[in-house]
Amino acid sequence: MSLRVKVELILFITFALVIGLGYGIQRFVVIPQLVPVEREAAGRDMERCIGVLERQRLALRKACAELADAPLLRGEAPTGETARALAGAARELDLNAVVLLDVGFNPIAAHYSSSDGASASAYDSDAWIARSELLQATAVGQGAGVDLTGLGPALVAVSALSGAAESPLGYLVIYRLITPEHIQEMQRQAATSFQLWPVTDPVLSPEERSIVQEFLAGKKLHIEETGSDLFRVYAAYPGLTGRPVLLLRSDLQRNLLARARATMQTGLLANVGVGLAALVLLIILFRRTVMDSLSLLTRHAAHIGKTGDLSLRLVMDRGDELGTLSHEFNRMVEQLEADRAYQLEVKEQLRESEERYARAVRGANDGLWDWNLGTDEIHFSERWKNMLGFEGGEIGPSPDEWLDRIHPDDRENVLAALEAHRLQKTAHFESEHRIRHKSGTYLWVLCRGLAVWNPDGEPTQMAGSQTDITLRKIFEEQLRHQALHDSLTSLPNRALFLDRLTQAIKMGTRHAGYQFAVLFLDLDRFKVINDGLGHVIGDALLGLFAEKLRGILRAVDSVCRHSGTLARFGGDEFVVLLDNISSVADATLVARRVERALEEPFRIDSHEVYTTCSIGIAMSNPGYTSAEELIRNADTAMYRAKAQGKACFEIFDSDMHSKAMERLQLENDMRRAIDRGEFIVHYQPIISLESGRITAFEALIRWRSPERGLVSPAEFIPIAEETGMIVALGEFVLRTACAQARAWHEELPRYADLKISVNLSVKEFGKPDLIGSITDILTETRLDPRLLKLEITESALMDSVEFVTRTLRQLRDMGIELLIDDFGTGYSSLSYLHRFPTHTLKIDQSFIRDMQGSHESAQIVRTVVLLARALSMGTIAEGIEEESQARRLRDLECGAGQGYFFSRPLPVEEATALLKSDPVWFAPPPDNG
Ligand code: C2E
Ligand code: MG
Ligand code: MG
Repeated sequence: MSLRVKVELILFITFALVIGLGYGIQRFVVIPQLVPVEREAAGRDMERCIGVLERQRLALRKACAELADAPLLRGEAPTGETARALAGAARELDLNAVVLLDVGFNPIAAHYSSSDGASASAYDSDAWIARSELLQATAVGQGAGVDLTGLGPALVAVSALSGAAESPLGYLVIYRLITPEHIQEMQRQAATSFQLWPVTDPVLSPEERSIVQEFLAGKKLHIEETGSDLFRVYAAYPGLTGRPVLLLRSDLQRNLLARARATMQTGLLANVGVGLAALVLLIILFRRTVMDSLSLLTRHAAHIGKTGDLSLRLVMDRGDELGTLSHEFNRMVEQLEADRAYQLEVKEQLRESEERYARAVRGANDGLWDWNLGTDEIHFSERWKNMLGFEGGEIGPSPDEWLDRIHPDDRENVLAALEAHRLQKTAHFESEHRIRHKSGTYLWVLCRGLAVWNPDGEPTQMAGSQTDITLRKIFEEQLRHQALHDSLTSLPNRALFLDRLTQAIKMGTRHAGYQFAVLFLDLDRFKVINDGLGHVIGDALLGLFAEKLRGILRAVDSVCRHSGTLARFGGDEFVVLLDNISSVADATLVARRVERALEEPFRIDSHEVYTTCSIGIAMSNPGYTSAEELIRNADTAMYRAKAQGKACFEIFDSDMHSKAMERLQLENDMRRAIDRGEFIVHYQPIISLESGRITAFEALIRWRSPERGLVSPAEFIPIAEETGMIVALGEFVLRTACAQARAWHEELPRYADLKISVNLSVKEFGKPDLIGSITDILTETRLDPRLLKLEITESALMDSVEFVTRTLRQLRDMGIELLIDDFGTGYSSLSYLHRFPTHTLKIDQSFIRDMQGSHESAQIVRTVVLLARALSMGTIAEGIEEESQARRLRDLECGAGQGYFFSRPLPVEEATALLKSDPVWFAPPPDNG
């Protein structure tokens, strides 16, 4: 049912109820209150009727008394006159009977008449006189009343004839019949209509008879409603003796009620009319003000519902609740529109995410599993099953399908990881384990998963993936092997050896009496074999040597109950860790066996290769804390063996140990010296052999140690190189020298082009940011790069030709001059020389020194000068101690020289003083041309 119908129905019902209530109140409250009033009025009407009767009775009594006073009866017997008098009275008083009675109540004269003029004789006097009643009437003094005669009810009056009361002459009785005319008259007087009957009248209905009985019992009035608009009022009228003889009945119109009803009806009709009009008006107003807007809203909502078009807005300009409702509705739609847009976006993102996920799953090739921990069932994806070689139906939903296939060695760990995650001890479940393939082989898988817990902390669901990582595992194993093994011989490499040795050292600190030894083996003259027979033979030799060592160790292991680890350190260096030996004799036994084994030649292709090896042995000692230290000692012993003439073994002893300790001390002192600024730079001039003037200085580092005095670089540079301290030292020298050169340029304009030469170590060369730090220092000291020379030893150049060449090119491009230091002492391959972007060769001082005595040295110097010229390079001779050497070199057209003849390396103040003196060493050669 629509709201409109409902509201209209409610209005209508309300209307009907109001009308009904009004009617009801009138009908059942107002009208009943009218009844007593009406009854009272009816009673009064009846009283009026009775009053009329009563007045007639009294008038008759009075008339009777007056007539009785007249001398009607003179004697005992009536006369004619008496009869005339009676007739006259009857006429005059409209009487129907006038009777004279004697004292014995016997009629003595009478006159009868009827109103219709009928003969009086038609009446039987007995019908008139009821003697007993008359007697009673006179006895009670009741002189008048109604009597029922044979002709009907009549008013009767009795009076004693004049005389003494105690002795009356007789009685006069007069009758007047109550005729319909009389009744009409009385009705007129009473202004109401009534009827009367003798109470004994047989026409009375049984109800009326019972009313009569009530009257006889003393009741005065009886009123009953007859029909809806009539009151029937009964009353009794008494006879001569006072007993009711007449029953009076008056039917009264209930006028008040009728009028009230009529008024009520009119009012009701008016109410209904006005009410209906109000109702209609109300409904119209309701429709206009509420329903129209509501139906607009409904239509709008329905339209949106049907079309889903949320862009529509409801226009309803009202200031009331409906206006607010439409406004709120619009807001709601706006919100919905925004929500829908957001949902669409989220949906799109979800779709993309799902697609991505699906792609990822396809791409990742992972198997998926989803474990319902409540039912203990797992759903395995197809890929999961296929990974293990199964098809869809072959694997059920039981977790055992998975867990039972895990390798027995891994199962415990997997279960522990699962349990840990279930107990929320881990953020996710992750395990790498082996799982059995259908074929019976094992795959390596990576299993990851994540559980979901309910609010009670119980895990309910767990899902995750399984990735086949077998290839990765194999690869990792290979990598691990490669990382720890030498590729040529498959022996453990340095890293693995260090690890084993560290463990042995730890073992030694824990167990007194536990002894081990490190043997350092180096093939003698391997470089010769390698260079001479080629790398292939060299490699084969190393492989066979490794094989031989393995055999020896196996044999020794089975004799003595110790074990050995053999490793290759690179090149021709091998090391052996002899574990759990009883004495140094065990180690020397191995060393001797190796020596003996090498007496036999190696047969490689068609070659028979003989080789020997030098062995250094270092025994375990509780003082050792690092593996490096032990290896270094074994290495030291090995060098000693080589120095002893090779093909033998040496045991690291206390002397070697003290030397090593000394070196360690030096190392420590050096570290401190850097911090304390004990390093200084001396400068040695480089002189143009043409002009005899200083063209450059070489910066040479010195260590002015408070304990050791001035320490030569020959002593500490190798250690600095080994420990890496050279980088800091090199930077210090470069910075100091550049700054000094710059200072000289500024102080001495004559030497504005003075160059500064700085030595660059092999180790510094390997530094990745070498170029950067040189650039920084040049910028910092504002030195022109063209005034900087860098000296690099031959060995540095040969170390890594490609890399060095690239770096040198960069330096050259910066404008820096590059020198090859100590040229002639290394193994420079002449074929490489022209490829290096170097400018100058510094001929090693050994050639200069020997130049005088040895013809060969002089030839070498000459050749080097020529070679340099051929390569468009300059030359500098080092170690010129005598003038003759200088002159000789000048003759050989060597560009520049450096040596004690000119000056030793000088502290900065002395070098400055030298510059200021502007020295010239020998006169320029005479101009031949
Ligand atoms: P080097 O670069 O070849 O330097 C020349 C060496 O010969 C210097 O020895 C110098 O004092 C010495 N000398 C010069 N003239 C004569 C002479 O007439 N007779 C003799 N017998 N010797 C002469 P020093 O200063 O002891 O340096 C030794 C080596 O230490 C240098 O050889 C160089 O390789 C290295 N060195 C020195 N300072 C540095 C430095 O700052 N950095 C690096 N990386 N190495 C440096
Ligand atoms: Mg040098
Ligand atoms: Mg040199």
